Amino acid sequence: MTVLNSKELQAAVEEVLPPECGLTKIEVEGPQVVVYVRNISAFYGDENLITKLAGKVRKKVLVRVDAASLMPPEKALATIKTLIPPEAGVEQVRFDAVFNEVIIEALKPGIAIGKGGSVLKSVILNTGWSPRVLRAPTTPSEVSKAVRGALLANSEERKKFLLGLGKKMFISEGTCDWIKITALGGFKEVGRSCMLLQTPHSNVLVDCGINADTSDKERAYPYLNAMNLALEQLDAVIVSHAHLDHCGFVPYLYAYGYEGPTYCTPPTRDLMVLLQQDCINVMNSEGEGNAPYGEREIKKELNHVITRDYGEVTDVTPEIRFTFHNAGHILGSSSVHIHVGEGMHNIVYTGDIKFGRTNLFDAADTYFPRIETLLIESTYGGRDDLQPRLDDAEAHLVQAIRKTIEQRGKVLIPVFAVGRAQEIMLALESHLKDENITVYIDGMSKEASAIHTIYPEYLRRNVQRRILQNDSPFDKEMFKHVVSKDRKDIAEGDEPCVILAPSGMLSGGTSVEFLKMMAGDARNALVFVGYQSAMSLGRKIQNGEKEVPMLNERHKVDALKINLGIDTIDGFSGHSDRSQLLAYVRNLRPKPSRILTMHGDENKPEDLARTLNRMMHVETRAPMDLDSIRLK
Ligand SMILES: [Zn+2]
Ligand SMILES: [Zn+2]
Repeated sequence: MTVLNSKELQAAVEEVLPPECGLTKIEVEGPQVVVYVRNISAFYGDENLITKLAGKVRKKVLVRVDAASLMPPEKALATIKTLIPPEAGVEQVRFDAVFNEVIIEALKPGIAIGKGGSVLKSVILNTGWSPRVLRAPTTPSEVSKAVRGALLANSEERKKFLLGLGKKMFISEGTCDWIKITALGGFKEVGRSCMLLQTPHSNVLVDCGINADTSDKERAYPYLNAMNLALEQLDAVIVSHAHLDHCGFVPYLYAYGYEGPTYCTPPTRDLMVLLQQDCINVMNSEGEGNAPYGEREIKKELNHVITRDYGEVTDVTPEIRFTFHNAGHILGSSSVHIHVGEGMHNIVYTGDIKFGRTNLFDAADTYFPRIETLLIESTYGGRDDLQPRLDDAEAHLVQAIRKTIEQRGKVLIPVFAVGRAQEIMLALESHLKDENITVYIDGMSKEASAIHTIYPEYLRRNVQRRILQNDSPFDKEMFKHVVSKDRKDIAEGDEPCVILAPSGMLSGGTSVEFLKMMAGDARNALVFVGYQSAMSLGRKIQNGEKEVPMLNERHKVDALKINLGIDTIDGFSGHSDRSQLLAYVRNLRPKPSRILTMHGDENKPEDLARTLNRMMHVETRAPMDLDSIRLK
């Protein structure tokens, strides 16, 4: 990549920008260039100016009005109120004097933005403040409130960080003539996904997760020591999605010297904070100081997050740029396309992908500008890992629920609070809404569902439409949120019902609490709808064990007798099954010349690699943790 130095950048901007705009300064905030002008009307005299500037400097360009020419906030607020139609449902307007931005939170952002951005344009033209519109959730979300509040409160620190990062983008250190990846976690296993990507002058981590199903620290965290790098030397962390096996260890990096950016999509940021917070709560409840980091590190991480939407090309270092693509797995989940050197090599890291129909998301993207190396997950890559169609899975689930309800039992469905819970809620809503069955939703699912309503553009078209029309499937009456004091009554009362509770693999959380209370009654049913990892309690019960070890109230190990009915319903997974993985690779454009498999237990990565080798006639391999592979 040709990197412009700051003089060249200045010259490039001045060449395109008409002098009457009154350029006052140019700043590079991390991956984007910000142009400050005195005369914003002159700037908007040419509709295509932003595009022209971006083409010239080859980065995303923002325009802001110079601080001296901004309207005072009180006056600006009054003006904004006259400019934005009341139907937009504006809930909050806040001014950020560090970034010269006004942050407008509205229930209907489309109306606040106006046709082709017309309302926003009138805001900046009339007040000078650059408007940023955020969607308000349909039900209150503590996390989004906290995240938005913290970002605003720490503007100054964020600005300093972004300017520092911007400076590094100009340092071009010579040619890029080799590329290497090192598997630090999540290869030939599920959990602690982490990959180091290196070139002569760049060190980038892709994902940095934990294995939440083991308390054995040797197996829970990625092999960061094997990087042979100080954390200060890392240039960036790119997070594919919010599940803890992909992001659970990121705050740890900030605890031990990392000061660089974490790139993710906006929904991943919110969900990541939610899940990390919960993770440390759960770990510390099992023993004070068990968690590898605290709230402070999550806050520090948040200050260093740079969000990117699908399709936004982003420079990470002068040698590396990446783009997120829809992965179809959970809200905001991404496959990461990485471009190294000037056309030298292209990597697609799938993250967790669903290449098939779900209620919530479109299938994973398969079109990329170029791919030489593909790294693909293989959770269900084994020879026999075929799953039924979603319709069949839904029919099976509905039948299992009806049967249990008829015998006056209760159905416990352990779910991941993020992803599976919402997928199952949509299925239950569409099939059982007229049957007077109460579905109790426990744990963070409520919060996670609220976050889904902030980002409808990341959901399938029909769910998106429902949220925009104020008919959010997550807010339906059949869903009741559980308060902790009611758990016993729900589990032991007479009312037949359905309970969705995390964690999905019975590795802690309230699903285990419910199980303890419900396991003895043969009328009840335990229904698995998601992946159960090799080491999890869920897998043990799924395999038919009739007695499992369980901590009692006095923290002693007891045996829990499993008398309730056990059912496993495949087909709801956010992961592709084997045929979907193969279809994904067949549909990839262009065709990769090397395929590496990852994110699979036992022999699944190898099974998938072998099949792909026969099918695609390209080099394939299933690396293990600590393997380094030179790509170029
Ligand atoms: Zn995942
Ligand atoms: Zn995963």
